[in-house]
Amino acid sequence: MERPISEAYFQEAGRHIPGGVSSPVRAFKAVGGTPPYLVRGEGAYVWDVDGNRYLDYVLSWGPLILGHAHPRVLARVREVMEGGLTFGAPHPLEVALAKKVKAAYPGVELVRFVSSGTEATMSALRLARGYTGRDLIVKFRGNYHGHADGLLVEAGSGALTLGVPSSAGVPEAYARLTLVLEYNDAEGLREVLRRRGEEIAAIIFEPVVGNAGVLVPTEDFLKALHEAREFGVLLIADEVMTGFRLAFGGATELFGLKPDLVTLGKVLGGGLPAAAYGGRREVMERVAPLGPVYQAGTLSGNPLAMASGLATLEILEADPGLYAHLEAVGARLEAGLREVLTRKGVPHTINRVGSMLTVFFTEGPVRTFAEARRTDTELFKRFFHGLLSRGVYWPPSNFEAAFLSTAHGEEEVARTLEALEGAL
Ligand code: PMP
Repeated sequence: MERPISEAYFQEAGRHIPGGVSSPVRAFKAVGGTPPYLVRGEGAYVWDVDGNRYLDYVLSWGPLILGHAHPRVLARVREVMEGGLTFGAPHPLEVALAKKVKAAYPGVELVRFVSSGTEATMSALRLARGYTGRDLIVKFRGNYHGHADGLLVEAGSGALTLGVPSSAGVPEAYARLTLVLEYNDAEGLREVLRRRGEEIAAIIFEPVVGNAGVLVPTEDFLKALHEAREFGVLLIADEVMTGFRLAFGGATELFGLKPDLVTLGKVLGGGLPAAAYGGRREVMERVAPLGPVYQAGTLSGNPLAMASGLATLEILEADPGLYAHLEAVGARLEAGLREVLTRKGVPHTINRVGSMLTVFFTEGPVRTFAEARRTDTELFKRFFHGLLSRGVYWPPSNFEAAFLSTAHGEEEVARTLEALEGAL
C-alpha cells in the first residue's frame, strides 16, 4: 500500500508545524512510518489522499460512535450552518443539548459547555478548588485528562507514548499540588485520604481508562473513590472518552457511580468541538456569572458543535439496541483476536469494555499502569504496521484504546482477523 502523496504532505508539514502534526500521537512516533493523510470517511471506513481505503478503529479518537459522515448528523449540521457559523450569544441548541446531558446523567443538575476535554477537566478542577477552598488534587498514574498544567503529571495517552508523561514547562510548585497514585490501588488511595484527605479538593479519574490502553476498575477501587466524599473531597469522573460510549449514561450508568462532577467531550460533540462539565447545582452555581469561579470561551456552545452533538445523542438515545450492537461486535472482535493470537502463540491480554479495546502483548493480567507498561511495544509496532498495510487503521500506540462504531459489524471483524492472520 503506497502513500506517496501522504509522504510528501508529511515532509512539507514538518517545515511548518512542529512534528508536522496538530496533536503529537498523530505523528506515528511510537510505531514509525508516515501517517496517512485522511480526507474522507464513510461509516467504518476512511480514505487517504493517495486513494487507499482503511477500516478505522481510531474514529477521530472516539467521537465518531456512529461512524464517519452519518447522514443525519451531517444533515443537521448543514441545516444549522446555513444560518451562520457562530454568534457568541446564547443559542436554542445549547438548551436542547443540556437537557440531553441531564437525561443521560441524572446527577447532573447544571452543565456548562466548552470546546475540548482539556478545558472541561481544567475547569472542573478550578471549580472544585474554588468550591472547597483546598489546593491539592489527586490523579492516577497513566490516566490522561488533557494537557492543562496540573494534569500533565504522570499522564497517559500521547504523553506516555512519547515517554514524557510529565511535561517540561509545568512549574514544580504547581506539579506539587497534584498527588499521583496507582490506578486500582484502593488501599493506597485510602491511606492518602486518611493522611491528607482534608487538604484535597478533588480526585479526578478515568472510570474506565483508555489512555494507558484500556484498564478496567475494580469494585473496591470504585468504592474507595466514593469514600473520598467523607473527607469533603469532590469526585470528578472524567468521562470525556467513556461518556455516551459505554452506555448512554457512560461509565456512571454502567457502574452506578455517584460523582460530584462529570466531564464530557468526544461523543458529546459528535465530531465537532464540544465538551462539558456538570454536576450538583450547589457546586455548579459557583461558576461565573452565578459565582466567583471564572471560566469562558469564544466558541463555547457554538451552534454547529451543538447540532452535531445533539443529532448524535438523539440517535443513541432513541435506540438502546445500538449499545447492544457495540457490545456484541466488541465481544466478537475480542474473541476473534484472542483466538488468532493464541493459535499463533503470541502472549497477549485483551482488555475491553463495550466498544473500547486494547491488545497488550504480555501475559497479564493488566490492571495497573505498571502492568500496562509490560506490553511488548516492539511486537505492537509489527502488529500495527501488519494491520495498516492490509487496510486496517489501528491506533498508532499501544497505550490507546481502539474504538468501535455502530457502523462496525461482522464483516469488519472478519476483515480485521484476516488482516491479523496475514500480519502474523
Ligand atoms: N480526558 C480524557 C479521559 C481523554 O481521553 C481526553 C482526550 N483523549 C481528554 C480528557 C482531553 O480531551 P481533548 O483532547 O478534547 O482536550
